Amino acid sequence: PHPTPLPTTEDLRTRARTALDRVGLTLPEGAGAGPVCHARTPVTGEALFPVPAATPAAADRAVADAHRAFRAWRSTPAPVRGELVRRLGELLREHQSDLADLVTVEAGKIRSEALGEVREMIDICDFAVGLSRQLYGRTIASERPGHRLAETWHPLGVVGVVSAFNFPCAVWSWNTAVALACGDTVVWKPSELTPLISLACAHLLDRAAADVGAPDGVHRLLIGDKAVGELLVDDARVALVSATGSTRMGREVGPRVAARFGRTLLELGGNNGAVVAPSADLDLAVQGIVFAAAGTAGQRCTTLRRLIAHRDIVDPLVARLTAAYAKLPVGDPFDEATLVGPLISVAALDRMRQAVARARAEGGKVLAGGGRRLADLAPDAAYVEPVLVRVRAGTAVVREETFAPILYVLTYDTFEEAVALHNDVPQGLSSSIFTRDQGEAELFLSAEGSDCGIANVNIGTSGAEIGGAFGGEKETGGGRESGSDAWRAYMRSATNTVNYSGRLSLAQNVSFL
Ligand code: NAD
Repeated sequence: PHPTPLPTTEDLRTRARTALDRVGLTLPEGAGAGPVCHARTPVTGEALFPVPAATPAAADRAVADAHRAFRAWRSTPAPVRGELVRRLGELLREHQSDLADLVTVEAGKIRSEALGEVREMIDICDFAVGLSRQLYGRTIASERPGHRLAETWHPLGVVGVVSAFNFPCAVWSWNTAVALACGDTVVWKPSELTPLISLACAHLLDRAAADVGAPDGVHRLLIGDKAVGELLVDDARVALVSATGSTRMGREVGPRVAARFGRTLLELGGNNGAVVAPSADLDLAVQGIVFAAAGTAGQRCTTLRRLIAHRDIVDPLVARLTAAYAKLPVGDPFDEATLVGPLISVAALDRMRQAVARARAEGGKVLAGGGRRLADLAPDAAYVEPVLVRVRAGTAVVREETFAPILYVLTYDTFEEAVALHNDVPQGLSSSIFTRDQGEAELFLSAEGSDCGIANVNIGTSGAEIGGAFGGEKETGGGRESGSDAWRAYMRSATNTVNYSGRLSLAQNVSFL
């Protein structure tokens, strides 16, 4: 049973307006004459208010502004660029709670996850401020006397950021904080499902830019749907398109940008698996699995979707998971007791039900969950119990990413079989193994183990820190964002040969003249 009733849509409107007011933004009454994007909330499933969207002419102007600003920004010393990111980080800290409110209103995240998403923005700003003094190139030993060979990193240009609804602000910040430190300017096309948090973030960055005197146009926001995104994709002034979303989107975006020889950074769908070995600490495994599979209502790209359990422990593991699933509080994401908020839409719930029906038709057995909740209170919202389904190896639907809390349970006998099952999906984002056998853990992390961009031991697949590079292989798109040396994707390198010998000597001992 749900602890408290849901807030009304009017309550949520007030919350959203209050949060926007506090960051310094007043929405116009009505959306005006041009195109409109309807802000809505998955908490009740209802519309909040219309927001003006970008026309093609406005999109063209935004790219022109960012392109112009780039000329000044690329020559601003990197540590001075870092001051803009530092100021943004300060404003994000000041408004952490307001921004988290908007994330919950628009994306339905529970309070601690919404605060966590904003925390991630603050963390990447800290990281990027440090990075602004560490855009290192290398000096390379030249084969010729009196020569110096070096690698220099330069700003790239305008970065077009296209982002998904489920991390409506963190993904923007991963890209934007790093891109700005690298000397790029940014045009952001957020998900059409989350315009309000986007307006708030863009406004705070505008404030930060004004505070530090950064050039007008270092950042532009374009509210709109896929058609607006396509304008960035096809615009030759956009040097890098960093796109986060479904593999379907990446399949459209990748070739279009490649056709104009632009660069892409693709962060697409995942289908993440965890192996549970016979030696695993099952208490730890259950906690890690339940957060990774049911947290964020299964709407993270790193959500755990496939559990690959050893035959000797599958029954006790499933018994514990079933018990944990039965107790998961589903409901109002603003209620501190709730762990599972709503799905983004009733359409997402329909897709979840279809996937479970397909799994059953292929011989799968539902072990726990799957029921809809709160439909009487909010028929347009999609509250659902996370579902656990036992399936056979080879079940077709398991190879697809269904963006909902479905955890498929598979069984294995040998470690080789576990790795083969694990890697036998088109996606390659995140993975983990629960084991106390060190050799097995190392093998899972080795070249012959997990084929994913993220591979973990004794922790679930989701909830990455910003310090590491984030991204995945295969149909996940191959991009890397956030920490480590992901910054290089936002810059171009030049190789410099300097001859200080006073004589011309050619490489490879070539003689000429
Ligand atoms: P989506 O693909 O429907 O939309 C993502 C964004 O792409 C939106 O802004 C959308 O307007 C835009 N878009 C769609 N088609 C486009 C086109 N042809 N040209 C330009 N822009 C286009 O995804 P979603 O439903 O918002 O998000 C969920 C998906 O995102 C899941 O598949 C999830 O795994 C993935 N995701 C991946 C990561 C990652 O880092 N790998 C992170 C978050 C979400």
